[in-house]
Amino acid sequence: MTPSAADSPADLIISACTVLVHDDQERIGFEEDAAIVVRNGLVEAVTTSAAVADLPAAERIDARGQVALPGLVNCHTHAPMVALRGLAEDLPTEEWFNGVVWPVESNLTAKDVELGARLACAEMIRGGVTCFADHYFAMDAVARVVAECGMRALLGEAFFSSQGPEDRERSLEFALRHRDSADGRITTALAPHAPYTVVDDDLAATAELARTHGLPVHLHAAENRDQTETSLTRHGVTPVEVLARTGILDTDVLLAHGTGIVDRDLPLLERADGRTAVATAPRGYLKFAWPDTTPVRALRAIGVDVGLATDGAASNNSLDVWESMALTSLVQKSAEGDPRWLTPARPCTTPPSRAPAPWDWGTRWAASRRAAGRTSSWSTSPGRTHSPSTTSPPPSCTAPAPPTCAPRSSTDGS
Ligand SMILES: [Zn+2]
Repeated sequence: MTPSAADSPADLIISACTVLVHDDQERIGFEEDAAIVVRNGLVEAVTTSAAVADLPAAERIDARGQVALPGLVNCHTHAPMVALRGLAEDLPTEEWFNGVVWPVESNLTAKDVELGARLACAEMIRGGVTCFADHYFAMDAVARVVAECGMRALLGEAFFSSQGPEDRERSLEFALRHRDSADGRITTALAPHAPYTVVDDDLAATAELARTHGLPVHLHAAENRDQTETSLTRHGVTPVEVLARTGILDTDVLLAHGTGIVDRDLPLLERADGRTAVATAPRGYLKFAWPDTTPVRALRAIGVDVGLATDGAASNNSLDVWESMALTSLVQKSAEGDPRWLTPARPCTTPPSRAPAPWDWGTRWAASRRAAGRTSSWSTSPGRTHSPSTTSPPPSCTAPAPPTCAPRSSTDGS
């Protein structure tokens, strides 16, 4: 869209930058000497620097030599756990959690959580992340930090069945209390911890609450092969089958990890009535020496979106979504035995006919990374076309429709 000649000046004009654009075929590209016009908190236009030369604006940024691109979304993390980074290194999952992390974590105060979240948000902003899906406790503190720092977030108060039905109620109260707060930057979810820590009755009740209140659900599911095998041994069903029989798959649901998703789960995920998405955080899988990774190709083949994530920084030391992007691409190539799969240019579909060589894109992404900490992020909505001729839609960042694994789609919908 052409910049408006409205009476009031634009809030912000960023000019002389290289800007990432994409078309309705999900092909991405870069335009030089571009300008971004922000008005009333929204990207009004992405155009040329010449077109905005005489446009009045409250603030101007000359972004020469920098790249402007949508902010990244961290689709699954536990932001406050940044305070525990480095506490336990190079241990098997159970020993890491039960032996070291949980004894400390269970004694964290709301103040500790707030300080951890503040540190995590600063780190994510510096890394180009503008939206994250968070799953923890004492989430009122995290909501305060998000409201203050300007990010977007999908927040869920985690609960376990071992702590009684009151915890499930607290998760609902949190979701209703903070839904659409911070001028709509905060969205909320119900957040049962996982099928192995939340019993079927609680999961079924959660699904009912989600339907009643129009809330999504965010939980860990089939995190690794051991969980799936244990579930099969003890209950005769996989974790995903538990989600299906309790109605969770009939809600809009974000599943964290899913490296234990097996073939028999795929028809259930494909038939799910709600919007189902999976967050993949490969750095942690590598560090814990899990034998599998998220089956991105199989999930994409049945229409399940996969988003990039880091998980909490205590488990893998990182909140770097750029790194998650690179690791996802490399690990997926290795897992599928296919170097053509999941390329940066167009990871989830067939390559565009005029796709640049992958290393060219790599250069671009590297340059983008360097610029990310210095350039004001602009935004579009996931799945929507954003080009110099379109207007940005209203902000949105909801986990049930997190971006796919493509670099473009892994950008913030804010
Ligand atoms: Zn997690």
